[in-house]
Amino acid sequence: MAQDCPSRALEPEHVQRLLLSSQEAKKSAYCPYSHFPVGAALLTGNGLIFSGCNVENACYPLGTCAERTAIQKAISEGHKDFRAIAISSDLQDDFISPCGACRQVMREFGTDWAVYMTKADGTYVVRTLQELLPASFGPEDLQKI
Ligand SMILES: [Zn+2]
Repeated sequence: MAQDCPSRALEPEHVQRLLLSSQEAKKSAYCPYSHFPVGAALLTGNGLIFSGCNVENACYPLGTCAERTAIQKAISEGHKDFRAIAISSDLQDDFISPCGACRQVMREFGTDWAVYMTKADGTYVVRTLQELLPASFGPEDLQKI
């Protein structure tokens, strides 16, 4: 069987917990402009989950995606070892995919962790950061000069 998962693949119960957390976080989305609620749930190396939702603003560029909300919550509480993030939206026919800005922010914390992209029914595809953002620029590159 083909291996299509990162080296630190999650146990099924972890995956379900993470997906449910992202769906729950979506309920808090503040998205009066896009009407496109998104939730994210981030699993740390020591088993904690930090969730987030999109938070829009009347000054549109100041809006923040769910993924970055979750990451900022985790970092601000002292956690930066991430195993996986799950993302949920109301899309029925497509898996929700992180935007380019979020991919770069996630990549800051490594390339070998898992991104679970879901449909509204809870089905998902999983990719590593390396797969979602190949040939990326990261903190290690700043040490090369
Ligand atoms: Zn984003």
